[in-house]
Parts: sequence; structure tokens; C-alpha cells
Amino acid sequence: VEQSTIWQAMDAAHHLHPFVDNGALAREGARMVTRAEGVYIWDAEGRQYLDAFAGLWCVNLGYGRPELAEAAARQMNELPYYNLFFKSSNVPAARLAQTLAELAPAHINHVFFTNSGSEANDTVFRMVRYFWALKGHPDKKVIIGRQNGYHGSTVAGASLGGMKSMHRQGGLPVPGVEHIRQPYWYDEGGDLSQDEFGLLAARALEEKILELGADNVAAFIAEPIQGAGGIIIPPSTYWPEIQRIVQKYDVLLVADEVICGFGRTGEWFGCDYFNIHADLMPIAKGLSSGYLPIGGVMVADHIAETLKQAGEEFSHGFTYSGHPVCAAVALENLRILKEERIIEQVRSQTAPYLQMQLQTLADHPLVGQIRGVGMLAAIELVADKHSRRRYDGNGRVGALCRDLALKQGLILRATGDTMLISPPLTITRDEINILVERAGQALDATQAALESES
Ligand code: PMP
Repeated sequence: VEQSTIWQAMDAAHHLHPFVDNGALAREGARMVTRAEGVYIWDAEGRQYLDAFAGLWCVNLGYGRPELAEAAARQMNELPYYNLFFKSSNVPAARLAQTLAELAPAHINHVFFTNSGSEANDTVFRMVRYFWALKGHPDKKVIIGRQNGYHGSTVAGASLGGMKSMHRQGGLPVPGVEHIRQPYWYDEGGDLSQDEFGLLAARALEEKILELGADNVAAFIAEPIQGAGGIIIPPSTYWPEIQRIVQKYDVLLVADEVICGFGRTGEWFGCDYFNIHADLMPIAKGLSSGYLPIGGVMVADHIAETLKQAGEEFSHGFTYSGHPVCAAVALENLRILKEERIIEQVRSQTAPYLQMQLQTLADHPLVGQIRGVGMLAAIELVADKHSRRRYDGNGRVGALCRDLALKQGLILRATGDTMLISPPLTITRDEINILVERAGQALDATQAALESES
């Protein structure tokens, strides 16, 4: 009986779909990944793949850094667990908070630790409402997100996000969450210049605030560059206009740094890249390069001061908030990023090379646009290059390209018919050449497959 129970449990696990938003890796059943080194992973059959997606936008340092394993082992032996409740702390969590405060923009000197990006955004949800209640504005409750934004898979995260696929399940979003358009110039810009469209897309926020009444709006949440929604890079007019609007209507600005943070854009944070002055910055993924689960919300001083006045009344926190082993690994990850000057290297060398090489695919008949910032890039697949006409079929061509890339030994991700690229920051020039060559082969194979259909 025991045996069969175990097998049933394993069977259930096998069928669980690990990604809810156009996920890539586990579609055709279980590809068992057994080993990884640098930018490469190997499956149980010994096949090698170049991981142009850094796991799930997180393995910023690449796989197999022994320093991170050693930091975990040391901490595991010294103090495997202690929490941050009841006026306790632990050394790695305290040091990590200090390091984050040093890296963050000057007005951000506090962090609330979580175990994931989703929990970070749940924390945001509660924090902003509690903040306004403490300020004497209990009606300032609505949080505005964006279409196709992704902020996690928990009830709050999926509500703040604007993925229709997630909202279909379980009656989300929860009440008190609204969404506005995304700044997707390639799809929606029409004849407008990028700058004109950036202003238009930002003003959707002002319209929504006026519709709801500023006294009812607590916060606006957005990723500096929308990731899972298709690597949507806002035009340069977008963020300054958003900044003007949130300031005018006294709405908190939450910049979800879960993907953009820790070097992805060639700066420490997406906020640095766009010069965004955020009140809250959810973080995760690249904080530990994905080696252990850890996330958090970086909190501006004025919010932290208000919440602290309430003391223990803000009852919020997780058993594993500030877990010492995760914090020790995150600290080691940040130390390596700093001491090896990896983010400077991304900004001055690796990202310009990646973006330049990817542009060599721009003339491919399937390719409508190639765009990128730092170590993020997107390739739009279209049926007609000039009119930007899309293929019908809900991302069927993107999925085909992703699967054919896999056959070439390349891991990409597809959101609809947009191919997403987000390799480890440590990728070398030779590896970028391999990435681009395999991506080109995947495009050719996709085109051949489409032609043989017609
Ligand atoms: N925010 C963003 C911008 C993300 O991309 C993700 C994860 N893809 C999350 C939040 C949720 O993070 P997690 O999966 O660690 O809960």
C-alpha cells in the first residue's frame, strides 16, 4: 500500500505543470535535467543545451559556481536556521539587508525578506494598503497593474499581474485590482513614433486614476521592462511620464525588479537603468542567481518609518524570511557580481555584443523586430514583416520555434509568437556566437516547417 501511495504521489508530481504563463521547459513531458555548468545544461540522455534563458531568468552567474555551494555548506554547519521574529535576527540576513541597502537607490534602506517573487508581491499588496491606512487614508486601496504584467502565481501575485490565462482560473483578479495597457509599441503603436506612443501608454495610468478617484488608488505596479509578457521595453518617454503621474496623484510606485534586478539591464536595478524613483522594489531570482529560493521587498525610508511606527501590528512574515543559508548564498552571489565587476562587463561588453549579434537575424523573413536591453532580448515572429501581421493560432509558431530550437540544443522561451532570450550574465562571446547561430537555425527550421504545411 505504501509503495502505491508513493507512486501515485510521484505520478501527480510528474503531471504538474510547472509554469502557468506560456511556460517552455516541461511541455513534452519530463526532460530530466541532471547537470549544468556555465551556460550549459545536460539532460539524462547526455544531450547538451545552451540555456539562453538562465533557468527562469535567474541564474545570472551561470551554473556551477563552487563559491555558492561552499557558502551554503558553511552556513548550514554554522547555523542552518533561525527566523526574524520576536526581535531575533541572524548574521547573514542582517548583512544581506545592509548590502542591499548599499546597492539600492539612496532613498531605499530597508528590506522585507520573502522566499520568492510571488511572496514579495503579496507583501507589497498588504504593505501598500496598510501604509495608507496608517496615514489616515483607509480608502486608498486599489492597486493598478498592467495587461500581461507578471507578478507571481499566488492569489495576490496573479491578481496584480495581467495575464488573462491566470485570471481565467479562480475568479482573479481579487477585488481592488485594476489593469491598464502595456507600452507595447511594436504591437500597438501604429503610426505613432515610439516617444509619442510612450506618452500615450503612460497616460492610461492617469485616465485610470481619474476614473477611480485618486483618493482610492494606493499604488501602481509595473516591471521596469515587462518580462514574461514579452520583454516589452518602454519608449524613453514612458517612465518619466509615469513618474509625473504617480507624484501628482500621491500614488505609490512599485517597480517589480524580480527579473530586471541584479544586472539584467547592465545596471544593478531596472530602476537605475530608467531612472525610476520607486517606493517599493520586489526582488528575487537574480538575488541568489536562483541557487536557493530567496526574495524580498526593498522599501523606501518613508514607508518603512510609517510601518515601523505601527510596530508588531503589521503582522506579516514568513517562517523562512531571511533564512540564513539562502541569505549566505545571496551574499556570496552579490560579492561575486561586485568583485568580478560582472555588471560593468555586461554594460560595456557582453550586452552590446549580444544585441549586435542578434541583429544579424533581423533580415530573416520570419522576424518582425528584434529588440533588447542589456541581457534581455526578444525576437518577434510575424507572418508579414512589413505590415507586422501576426500568425493566427495563439502562439503556435512561437511554440514551434521554441521546440525546434531545443532540437538545435538551445533553450529559448516563447510568449505567444515572441521568442525571449535572457542568458546568464557571464556568457562569453563564443557562447553568444553559438546562441545566435542556433537561434538562426531554429528560425530556418521553423520557416521550413511552416512552408511544408502550406
Ligand atoms: N515578478 C516577476 C517580474 C517575475 O518575472 C516573477 C517570476 N517569473 C515573479 C514576480 C514571481 O517570482 P517567483 O516565481 O519567485 O514567485
